[in-house]
Amino acid sequence: MCGIVGYIGAREAFPVILKGLERLEYRGYDSAGIALYNKGIIELCKTKGKVADLRAKADKEGVVNGSIGIGHTRWATHGEPNDQNAHPHYSNSGDLAIIHNGIIENYASIKEALINRGYEFHSDTDTEVLVNLIEDVKTNENVKLGKAVQIALNQVVGAYAIAVFDRTKPDEIVVAKLGSPLAIGVGEDEFFIASDASPFIEYTNNAIYLEDEQMAIVKRGRDVRVRQVRSDKPVNPYVQELKMNLEQIEKGGYDHFMLKEIYEQPEAIKDTYRGRLRINDGIVKMAGVEDNLGKFLNAKRIIIVACGTSWHAGLVAEYIFEELMRIPVEVEYASEFRYRNPVITQDDVVIAISQSGETADTLAAIKLSKEKGAFVFGVCNVVGSSISRETHAGAYTHAGPEIGVASTKAFTTQITVLTLIALKLAKSTGKITHSEFHNYLAELETIPVKVQETLKTDAHVATIADIYKDATNCLYLGRGYNFPVALEGALKLKEISYIHAEGYPAAEMKHGPIALIDEQMPVVVIATKKGHYEKVVSNVQEIKSRKGKIIAVVTQGDKDVSKLADHVIEVPETHELLTPLLTTIPLQLLSYHIAVMRGCNVDQPRNLAKSVTVE
Ligand code: GLU
Repeated sequence: MCGIVGYIGAREAFPVILKGLERLEYRGYDSAGIALYNKGIIELCKTKGKVADLRAKADKEGVVNGSIGIGHTRWATHGEPNDQNAHPHYSNSGDLAIIHNGIIENYASIKEALINRGYEFHSDTDTEVLVNLIEDVKTNENVKLGKAVQIALNQVVGAYAIAVFDRTKPDEIVVAKLGSPLAIGVGEDEFFIASDASPFIEYTNNAIYLEDEQMAIVKRGRDVRVRQVRSDKPVNPYVQELKMNLEQIEKGGYDHFMLKEIYEQPEAIKDTYRGRLRINDGIVKMAGVEDNLGKFLNAKRIIIVACGTSWHAGLVAEYIFEELMRIPVEVEYASEFRYRNPVITQDDVVIAISQSGETADTLAAIKLSKEKGAFVFGVCNVVGSSISRETHAGAYTHAGPEIGVASTKAFTTQITVLTLIALKLAKSTGKITHSEFHNYLAELETIPVKVQETLKTDAHVATIADIYKDATNCLYLGRGYNFPVALEGALKLKEISYIHAEGYPAAEMKHGPIALIDEQMPVVVIATKKGHYEKVVSNVQEIKSRKGKIIAVVTQGDKDVSKLADHVIEVPETHELLTPLLTTIPLQLLSYHIAVMRGCNVDQPRNLAKSVTVE
């Protein structure tokens, strides 16, 4: 899941790579390292910890200058995070240096074979095995680095985005990709290599995204030669012009990316529906759906596959699709779905959701669904990502880069896009009337303003956070459309503040979690005016009777729940189906403030990484 960066050109590589690693730190941050070539030697600096630790170590040790180099920020899969296991890794001769994102699944047998041939290993990583395999091939077959990488990759099973260079031939970096992302920034007489475009966006807007099982030789002062890993077939690289700008990937005055992204939601939601929601024309315009209308309309079932926060967005979508389209919907954890021989037919439409578009389990679920003949539709944020390429069609959320590891705007924009799809389909089949359709669209169009208004609860939410920051447990309850919001609220708290939290459908409380309630237990209840309101009021009574502390998210002007709750957070009124877009906002803020008050690293919570490109 780590971030990789490489540079070859006329600039000093060290600052370019270091800054690039800082931008990619959301992908992994348990150790970091850099290798730079200069006048016949490779200078290596690596350390356990963050990129800031690497910077400090490099400053202390003094790094050599060099105009070619590779860097890595790690999310350990094989071997604990320590200096030895940090990347880059050398081959035994010291000639080859590699960085790697992914997992070499058959590394153990290759390692054994290499040990039998006299190789020594200094780390526990699968990556060090790969670089030595490349060296072994290069020496035995007497081939150039590119060919050696290709032959070696044909012997490995797993996932990789790699960059390798050779001390004895320092004018090129060889890169390859399978399962993990890899972009090449194409500048003037210089090239950048990175897991996404953020490390090089200030230098160039031109990028080549390698496809799976493609490799490239990136040569100083020349061009990028792309070819297939499994054959020698050359590939004409497509140079894409990126629309992203630097401002979007910086904090812009906020203390944390997470807070910035919470506050970006009004704009992000607007960007999601811009050009799609056309009230005056009475339509929702979405090419990916239009071009495949028959597939959607003939579907007997919709299966949604996703992980984490995206799975919660999928649950909200289940309620919306079933309500509006009257079609059965199943929501599956991609990781379970792919391994349990699921029943999938040609009559199914599979919707895969992922912010990064790189989630390994979701990608595997997509492949499986395609094999079984289902039509697969992707919902993701990152343009050009693997999911956008692997699916038959799809819709981007257009939320802009999300850097904070805890997803916020990805969630609300995913719900927005899924709502648009459901509305479009429900209208096409006549399941909703023209005036219902129109009302939903008009209400959806007001959501950014209502999110903005909800954000004004920030200071009030911070005072509540201050009271409960030392809690050890927390319950989140909601019903209907807001049950997934309860799950998402609990996940946010767990992720960034490390407080144990659980989300439950409010009525399920009495089947177990009610036993946990005492005067120490904060219970966050989503109790908007619509949607089983009276039932939720009863649930709140039950908590109150057991002295639980109630933090209620209610509709503006609420009387009943407000009387019972210890703290009340008001959100504007909206259509029931759209309430998750509002109720989720104070829960994001609550977890944010609690985490900050507990001194947690909000943007880089322990053990997590943003883009889960390993199984
Ligand atoms: N498998 C490699 C390691 O554990 C790379 C992990 C990653 O993608 O961060 O070092």
